[in-house]
Amino acid sequence: MGLIENIIKKVVLQETIIEERTRLSEAVWKIRLRSDSIHKADFVPGYFLRVGVGLNDRELSLKEKIRSYSVWNINQAEGYLDLAVATHSNGIGAKWATHCKVGDKVYFKWKKGNFLVDDSADSYLMIGDVSALSHLYMIHRNVPRDRKMKSIIYSQKKSELFSDVDGTTPFDFYEMATNPYPDIIAKVNEIVPKMTGKKMAYIGGDSRICVALNHYLRKELHWETKQIKTKPFWNPNKRGLE
Ligand SMILES: Cc1cc2nc3c(=O)[nH]c(=O)nc-3n(C[C@H](O)[C@H](O)[C@H](O)COP(=O)(O)OP(=O)(O)OC[C@H]3O[C@@H](n4cnc5c(N)ncnc54)[C@H](O)[C@@H]3O)c2cc1C
Repeated sequence: MGLIENIIKKVVLQETIIEERTRLSEAVWKIRLRSDSIHKADFVPGYFLRVGVGLNDRELSLKEKIRSYSVWNINQAEGYLDLAVATHSNGIGAKWATHCKVGDKVYFKWKKGNFLVDDSADSYLMIGDVSALSHLYMIHRNVPRDRKMKSIIYSQKKSELFSDVDGTTPFDFYEMATNPYPDIIAKVNEIVPKMTGKKMAYIGGDSRICVALNHYLRKELHWETKQIKTKPFWNPNKRGLE
Protein backbone atom coordinates (compact mmCIF):
# COMPACT_ATOMS: atom_id res chain seq x y z
CA MET A 1 0.00 0.00 0.00
CA GLY A 2 1.27 3.48 -0.90
CA LEU A 3 2.04 6.42 1.37
CA ILE A 4 -1.04 8.36 0.23
CA GLU A 5 -3.35 5.43 1.01
CA ASN A 6 -1.79 5.11 4.49
CA ILE A 7 -2.25 8.83 5.18
CA ILE A 8 -5.86 8.67 3.99
CA LYS A 9 -6.57 5.68 6.23
CA LYS A 10 -4.90 7.03 9.34
CA VAL A 11 -5.70 10.75 9.09
CA VAL A 12 -8.77 11.30 6.93
CA LEU A 13 -10.86 8.20 7.54
CA GLN A 14 -12.11 6.32 10.60
CA GLU A 15 -11.43 2.61 11.08
CA THR A 16 -14.20 0.09 11.57
CA ILE A 17 -14.60 -3.68 11.31
CA ILE A 18 -17.09 -5.74 9.35
CA GLU A 19 -19.09 -7.65 11.94
CA GLU A 20 -21.67 -9.24 9.68
CA ARG A 21 -22.26 -9.69 5.97
CA THR A 22 -25.59 -11.13 4.86
CA ARG A 23 -27.33 -11.46 1.51
CA LEU A 24 -30.59 -9.46 1.50
CA SER A 25 -31.53 -10.47 -2.05
CA GLU A 26 -29.85 -11.67 -5.25
CA ALA A 27 -28.53 -8.13 -5.83
CA VAL A 28 -28.01 -6.66 -2.34
CA TRP A 29 -25.65 -7.28 0.59
CA LYS A 30 -26.15 -6.08 4.14
CA ILE A 31 -22.87 -5.07 5.74
CA ARG A 32 -22.69 -4.36 9.48
CA LEU A 33 -19.81 -2.14 10.62
CA ARG A 34 -18.76 -1.88 14.25
CA SER A 35 -16.52 0.76 15.80
CA ASP A 36 -16.20 2.82 18.99
CA SER A 37 -16.65 6.02 16.97
CA ILE A 38 -20.24 5.00 16.12
CA HIS A 39 -21.19 5.42 19.84
CA LYS A 40 -20.17 9.08 19.68
CA ALA A 41 -21.36 10.01 16.18
CA ASP A 42 -23.66 13.01 15.92
CA PHE A 43 -26.15 11.18 13.69
CA VAL A 44 -29.14 12.54 11.78
CA PRO A 45 -31.28 10.11 9.70
CA GLY A 46 -30.17 10.54 6.09
CA TYR A 47 -26.44 10.73 6.78
CA PHE A 48 -24.24 8.51 4.63
CA LEU A 49 -20.67 7.21 4.65
CA ARG A 50 -17.81 7.63 2.22
CA VAL A 51 -16.22 4.19 2.29
CA GLY A 52 -12.71 3.33 1.09
CA VAL A 53 -13.69 0.31 -1.02
CA GLY A 54 -10.57 0.09 -3.15
CA LEU A 55 -7.81 1.44 -0.93
CA ASN A 56 -5.55 -1.54 -1.56
CA ASP A 57 -5.88 -1.34 -5.34
CA ARG A 58 -2.85 0.52 -6.75
CA GLU A 59 -4.38 0.64 -10.24
CA LEU A 60 -7.14 2.98 -9.11
CA SER A 61 -7.02 6.76 -8.76
CA LEU A 62 -7.98 8.20 -5.37
CA LYS A 63 -11.49 9.12 -6.61
CA GLU A 64 -11.95 5.56 -7.81
CA LYS A 65 -11.27 4.15 -4.35
CA ILE A 66 -14.22 5.78 -2.55
CA ARG A 67 -17.94 5.03 -2.78
CA SER A 68 -20.88 6.49 -0.80
CA TYR A 69 -23.33 4.32 1.15
CA SER A 70 -26.37 5.42 3.17
CA VAL A 71 -26.76 4.41 6.79
CA TRP A 72 -29.72 2.02 6.72
CA ASN A 73 -29.74 1.34 10.44
CA ILE A 74 -27.68 2.51 13.41
CA ASN A 75 -27.47 1.33 17.01
CA GLN A 76 -25.32 3.87 18.82
CA ALA A 77 -25.67 2.19 22.22
CA GLU A 78 -24.20 -1.03 20.76
CA GLY A 79 -21.78 0.78 18.42
CA TYR A 80 -22.78 -0.59 15.01
CA LEU A 81 -24.46 0.50 11.79
CA ASP A 82 -25.78 -1.33 8.73
CA LEU A 83 -25.38 -0.60 5.03
CA ALA A 84 -27.29 -2.19 2.14
CA VAL A 85 -25.10 -2.34 -0.96
CA ALA A 86 -26.53 -3.14 -4.40
CA THR A 87 -24.38 -4.98 -6.94
CA HIS A 88 -25.98 -4.25 -10.36
CA SER A 89 -23.15 -1.83 -11.14
CA ASN A 90 -20.46 -4.51 -10.90
CA GLY A 91 -17.93 -1.74 -10.14
CA ILE A 92 -15.40 -1.48 -7.31
CA GLY A 93 -18.16 -0.90 -4.71
CA ALA A 94 -20.19 -3.90 -5.85
CA LYS A 95 -17.04 -6.04 -5.87
CA TRP A 96 -16.17 -4.91 -2.34
CA ALA A 97 -19.65 -5.86 -1.08
CA THR A 98 -19.50 -9.23 -2.81
CA HIS A 99 -16.02 -10.22 -1.64
CA CYS A 100 -15.48 -8.52 1.75
CA LYS A 101 -15.33 -10.75 4.82
CA VAL A 102 -16.32 -10.58 8.47
CA GLY A 103 -13.31 -9.19 10.38
CA ASP A 104 -12.05 -7.03 7.48
CA LYS A 105 -11.07 -3.48 8.40
CA VAL A 106 -13.02 -0.78 6.57
CA TYR A 107 -12.16 2.92 6.45
CA PHE A 108 -14.90 5.52 6.23
CA LYS A 109 -15.88 9.16 6.72
CA TRP A 110 -19.27 10.54 7.79
CA LYS A 111 -21.15 12.73 5.30
CA LYS A 112 -24.24 14.78 5.99
CA GLY A 113 -25.67 15.97 2.64
CA ASN A 114 -29.18 17.39 2.27
CA PHE A 115 -31.15 14.17 1.73
CA LEU A 116 -32.16 14.15 5.39
CA VAL A 117 -35.28 13.44 7.40
CA ASP A 118 -37.78 16.32 7.34
CA ASP A 119 -40.91 15.82 9.43
CA SER A 120 -42.66 19.03 8.33
CA ALA A 121 -45.05 17.40 5.80
CA ASP A 122 -48.40 15.65 6.29
CA SER A 123 -47.98 13.21 3.43
CA TYR A 124 -44.89 11.77 1.77
CA LEU A 125 -44.09 10.15 -1.56
CA MET A 126 -40.96 7.94 -1.64
CA ILE A 127 -39.52 7.04 -5.05
CA GLY A 128 -36.37 5.05 -5.70
CA ASP A 129 -34.60 1.96 -6.96
CA VAL A 130 -32.85 -0.77 -4.99
CA SER A 131 -29.74 1.40 -4.37
CA ALA A 132 -31.86 4.02 -2.56
CA LEU A 133 -34.18 1.65 -0.69
CA SER A 134 -32.18 1.55 2.57
CA HIS A 135 -32.00 5.35 2.65
CA LEU A 136 -35.77 5.67 2.10
CA TYR A 137 -36.41 3.10 4.86
CA MET A 138 -34.30 5.19 7.26
CA ILE A 139 -36.29 8.34 6.41
CA HIS A 140 -39.59 6.43 6.73
CA ARG A 141 -38.69 5.11 10.20
CA ASN A 142 -37.89 8.61 11.37
CA VAL A 143 -40.96 10.58 10.34
CA PRO A 144 -43.84 10.50 12.84
CA ARG A 145 -46.17 7.50 12.48
CA ASP A 146 -49.25 9.64 11.87
CA ARG A 147 -47.92 10.94 8.52
CA LYS A 148 -49.34 9.44 5.31
CA MET A 149 -46.82 7.50 3.24
CA LYS A 150 -47.01 6.53 -0.46
CA SER A 151 -44.21 4.93 -2.41
CA ILE A 152 -42.94 3.74 -5.78
CA ILE A 153 -39.95 1.44 -5.24
CA TYR A 154 -38.91 -0.33 -8.41
CA SER A 155 -36.52 -2.87 -9.80
CA GLN A 156 -36.27 -5.03 -12.89
CA LYS A 157 -36.84 -7.99 -10.56
CA LYS A 158 -39.20 -7.40 -7.66
CA SER A 159 -37.46 -10.20 -5.73
CA GLU A 160 -34.34 -8.00 -5.46
CA LEU A 161 -36.18 -5.52 -3.23
CA PHE A 162 -35.70 -6.29 0.45
CA SER A 163 -37.63 -5.70 3.70
CA ASP A 164 -36.64 -3.11 6.28
CA VAL A 165 -34.45 -3.97 9.30
CA ASP A 166 -37.50 -4.83 11.42
CA GLY A 167 -38.77 -7.27 8.77
CA THR A 168 -41.62 -5.01 7.62
CA THR A 169 -42.29 -3.94 4.02
CA PRO A 170 -43.96 -0.53 4.35
CA PHE A 171 -43.39 0.48 0.69
CA ASP A 172 -45.08 -0.56 -2.57
CA PHE A 173 -42.71 -2.54 -4.79
CA TYR A 174 -42.97 -2.56 -8.61
CA GLU A 175 -41.26 -4.51 -11.35
CA MET A 176 -40.16 -1.92 -13.94
CA ALA A 177 -37.59 -1.70 -16.74
CA THR A 178 -34.46 0.45 -16.32
CA ASN A 179 -35.05 4.22 -16.40
CA PRO A 180 -38.84 3.71 -16.24
CA TYR A 181 -39.86 7.36 -16.43
CA PRO A 182 -43.30 6.90 -18.13
CA ASP A 183 -44.30 4.11 -15.69
CA ILE A 184 -43.32 6.21 -12.68
CA ILE A 185 -45.13 9.29 -14.01
CA ALA A 186 -48.29 7.20 -14.48
CA LYS A 187 -48.07 6.08 -10.82
CA VAL A 188 -47.28 9.63 -9.63
CA ASN A 189 -50.40 10.88 -11.41
CA GLU A 190 -52.49 8.23 -9.62
CA ILE A 191 -50.98 8.93 -6.20
CA VAL A 192 -50.50 12.71 -5.97
CA PRO A 193 -54.21 13.72 -6.25
CA LYS A 194 -54.91 11.47 -3.23
CA MET A 195 -52.16 13.00 -1.07
CA THR A 196 -53.52 15.38 1.56
CA GLY A 197 -52.12 18.35 3.49
CA LYS A 198 -48.54 19.47 3.02
CA LYS A 199 -46.86 17.11 0.56
CA MET A 200 -43.20 16.11 0.25
CA ALA A 201 -41.35 13.77 -2.15
CA TYR A 202 -38.05 11.94 -1.59
CA ILE A 203 -36.52 10.72 -4.85
CA GLY A 204 -33.24 8.75 -4.80
CA GLY A 205 -31.19 6.44 -7.00
CA ASP A 206 -30.89 6.73 -10.80
CA SER A 207 -29.90 10.32 -11.64
CA ARG A 208 -32.09 10.33 -14.77
CA ILE A 209 -35.20 9.63 -12.68
CA CYS A 210 -34.19 12.18 -10.02
CA VAL A 211 -33.77 14.95 -12.59
CA ALA A 212 -36.86 14.11 -14.66
CA LEU A 213 -39.20 13.75 -11.65
CA ASN A 214 -37.92 16.91 -10.00
CA HIS A 215 -38.72 18.74 -13.23
CA TYR A 216 -42.15 17.09 -13.56
CA LEU A 217 -43.22 17.85 -9.99
CA ARG A 218 -42.14 21.49 -10.25
CA LYS A 219 -43.22 22.32 -13.80
CA GLU A 220 -46.28 20.10 -14.34
CA LEU A 221 -47.65 19.68 -10.82
CA HIS A 222 -46.41 23.07 -9.54
CA TRP A 223 -44.75 21.79 -6.38
CA GLU A 224 -42.35 24.14 -4.63
CA THR A 225 -38.64 23.27 -4.61
CA LYS A 226 -38.63 22.75 -0.85
CA GLN A 227 -41.28 20.01 -1.20
CA ILE A 228 -38.91 17.88 -3.31
CA LYS A 229 -35.84 16.14 -1.94
CA THR A 230 -33.72 14.39 -4.54
CA LYS A 231 -30.37 12.65 -4.36
CA PRO A 232 -28.82 11.01 -7.44
CA PHE A 233 -26.96 7.90 -6.23
CA TRP A 234 -25.61 6.86 -9.62
CA ASN A 235 -25.39 8.06 -13.18
CA PRO A 236 -25.20 5.73 -16.21
CA ASN A 237 -22.25 7.67 -17.64
CA LYS A 238 -20.17 7.85 -14.47
CA ARG A 239 -18.33 5.62 -12.04
CA GLY A 240 -18.98 6.58 -8.43
CA LEU A 241 -20.78 9.88 -7.99
CA GLU A 242 -19.42 11.78 -5.04
C1 LIG B 1 -25.25 9.90 -1.10
C2 LIG B 1 -25.16 8.53 -1.74
C3 LIG B 1 -25.62 7.42 -1.04
C4 LIG B 1 -25.57 6.16 -1.64
N1 LIG B 1 -26.05 5.10 -0.95
C5 LIG B 1 -26.05 3.88 -1.51
C6 LIG B 1 -26.57 2.75 -0.80
O1 LIG B 1 -26.99 2.85 0.34
N2 LIG B 1 -26.55 1.55 -1.44
C7 LIG B 1 -26.06 1.40 -2.73
O2 LIG B 1 -26.08 0.28 -3.25
N3 LIG B 1 -25.55 2.45 -3.40
C8 LIG B 1 -25.52 3.67 -2.82
N4 LIG B 1 -24.99 4.73 -3.50
C9 LIG B 1 -24.33 4.47 -4.79
C10 LIG B 1 -22.89 3.98 -4.54
O3 LIG B 1 -22.12 5.04 -3.99
C11 LIG B 1 -22.17 3.56 -5.82
O4 LIG B 1 -22.25 4.55 -6.77
C12 LIG B 1 -22.73 2.29 -6.38
O5 LIG B 1 -22.60 1.26 -5.42
C13 LIG B 1 -21.98 1.87 -7.63
O6 LIG B 1 -20.61 1.72 -7.33
P1 LIG B 1 -19.70 0.67 -8.09
O7 LIG B 1 -18.29 0.98 -7.76
O8 LIG B 1 -20.17 -0.73 -7.86
O9 LIG B 1 -19.96 0.98 -9.63
P2 LIG B 1 -19.37 2.19 -10.47
O10 LIG B 1 -17.97 1.92 -10.86
O11 LIG B 1 -19.64 3.46 -9.74
O12 LIG B 1 -20.30 2.13 -11.75
C14 LIG B 1 -20.17 1.12 -12.76
C15 LIG B 1 -21.34 1.25 -13.72
O13 LIG B 1 -22.56 0.82 -13.08
C16 LIG B 1 -23.56 1.82 -13.19
N5 LIG B 1 -24.39 1.76 -11.96
C17 LIG B 1 -24.08 2.26 -10.72
N6 LIG B 1 -25.06 1.98 -9.84
C18 LIG B 1 -26.00 1.28 -10.52
C19 LIG B 1 -27.26 0.70 -10.17
N7 LIG B 1 -27.75 0.77 -8.92
N8 LIG B 1 -27.97 0.05 -11.14
C20 LIG B 1 -27.49 -0.03 -12.41
N9 LIG B 1 -26.30 0.50 -12.81
C21 LIG B 1 -25.57 1.14 -11.88
C22 LIG B 1 -22.78 3.12 -13.33
O14 LIG B 1 -23.54 4.08 -13.99
C23 LIG B 1 -21.59 2.69 -14.18
O15 LIG B 1 -21.93 2.66 -15.54
C24 LIG B 1 -25.03 6.01 -2.94
C25 LIG B 1 -24.54 7.13 -3.64
C26 LIG B 1 -24.61 8.38 -3.04
C27 LIG B 1 -24.11 9.56 -3.82
